[in-house]
Amino acid sequence: MQLIFEKSRAGRKGFTLPVIDVPRASGLPEKYCRNQEAQLPEVSELDVVRHFSNLSRLNFSVDTNFYPLGSCTMKYNPKFTEKVVEMSGFSDLHPLLPQLLGGGMLAQGSLEVLYNMERLLAEITGMSAFTTQPLAGAHGELTGVMLIAAYHKDNGDLRKHIIIPDSSHGTNPASAAIAGYEVVVIPTDKDGFLDMQLFKKALSKETAAVMLTCPDTLGLFNPKIKEIADLTHNVGALMYYDGANLNAIMGKCRPGDIGFDVVHLNLHKTFATPHGGGGPGAGPVGVCEKLVDFLPISRVVRRADGTFALDYHKHKSIGYIAPFYGNFGVILKAYAYILALGKSGLIAASENAVLSANYCLARLKDYYAVGYDKICMHECVISAAKQLEQGVHALDIAKYLIDQGFHPPTIYFPMIVKEAMMIEPTETESKETLDAFIQVMIEAAKLAISNPDLLRLAPISMPIKRLDETKAAREPNLRWSSD
Ligand SMILES: *Cc1c(COP(=O)(O)O)cnc(C)c1O
Repeated sequence: MQLIFEKSRAGRKGFTLPVIDVPRASGLPEKYCRNQEAQLPEVSELDVVRHFSNLSRLNFSVDTNFYPLGSCTMKYNPKFTEKVVEMSGFSDLHPLLPQLLGGGMLAQGSLEVLYNMERLLAEITGMSAFTTQPLAGAHGELTGVMLIAAYHKDNGDLRKHIIIPDSSHGTNPASAAIAGYEVVVIPTDKDGFLDMQLFKKALSKETAAVMLTCPDTLGLFNPKIKEIADLTHNVGALMYYDGANLNAIMGKCRPGDIGFDVVHLNLHKTFATPHGGGGPGAGPVGVCEKLVDFLPISRVVRRADGTFALDYHKHKSIGYIAPFYGNFGVILKAYAYILALGKSGLIAASENAVLSANYCLARLKDYYAVGYDKICMHECVISAAKQLEQGVHALDIAKYLIDQGFHPPTIYFPMIVKEAMMIEPTETESKETLDAFIQVMIEAAKLAISNPDLLRLAPISMPIKRLDETKAAREPNLRWSSD
């Protein structure tokens, strides 16, 4: 098809701009075609730089403040990983390079990164094979559940539901439902774990899988996990591991050894790449031997001569779940991070993450109610239930923290803990930072008794006062004004 443009005329500042910028052959109705130049605002480079610099200064970020947002693993991500992705051999590679598609020599380095990364993740988790294609944790979940569905279907075994604890991350039931399963929710018992009686009742030949997070969103590691896996396998169902909390157990225990059949990881939580702001992320999925054939295409394979290629010929594969090869930059950063830390470094990261969370918990539990009073893993859940007696909510304490220069912890999640405040300090913070945060949390607990209004008015140091959150959601005003 030949594209026919109207004759252009000399535009402003010496550029040549077409008056009509829609190709005639596009078939777009005449009434939608522009007949005069678009009235785009003209701003100088300096104005643009100032605009974005000022916007960036409105942000709380790990680079500027402590960010103990539970469930999100907001740890500092070393800058050397950014340097690695900027290397032109990686960053200038076009995804449609024929060399890449044909497995030619120009793209061998990138294919090798993907291949090695799959092997490293398999070793860390105890799984047989990985796909690095999914673009986020939730996308990994959906991919994992699709693999489970493909496996059962291949066995002529149509199963109906997936069992998920009520402490799970909201994406778990959403992924199971999108993949076409009914979701059976099991409540948490008084110890903070899956209620075993109700679980056994729900488990049947209709169960496709049990989706668990361990340690879970309460920061607890379920000591009955092996028993749960055995019961699940006895009815022919599969075990799904939400590995977004891998930061707690790297090098300590492997989901594959416990009996999990499918695992997703959040590279952007555990292995570099800042998390938040909607991505980009990577949620690779690992599987046990019997699920390998169903993994998405393309698969990176190693040929007999040691070179690498992409293999699209997998007839049992669930097919494409992402364009091209996943978020390559995120995978590459995680690869660099794993190689830099090595085995002992990954183990130390987990140990320090768990130590930091327990330190916060131990020092705060005289001042706040505790969700479940036991040793926690990488995050701890405390609650403002005591402060509520003075009319102070978790939200008020969160806003006060902003005044004191700290990002608030996650509040009101997990939903099964009243007035929850979920703190995930991560391994990258110093004891001095943790102590400063704890000090402010203790001050807030004292203020709840002596001057609760001060908490209810917070934040007072910000250009914008406390928002009416309902109004903000219903009538969002996204314009920034400094007055
Ligand atoms: C963050 C998280 C997810 C979802 O990951 P995304 O990358 O945000 O989609 C799933 N499960 C748990 C436990 C998480 O913490």
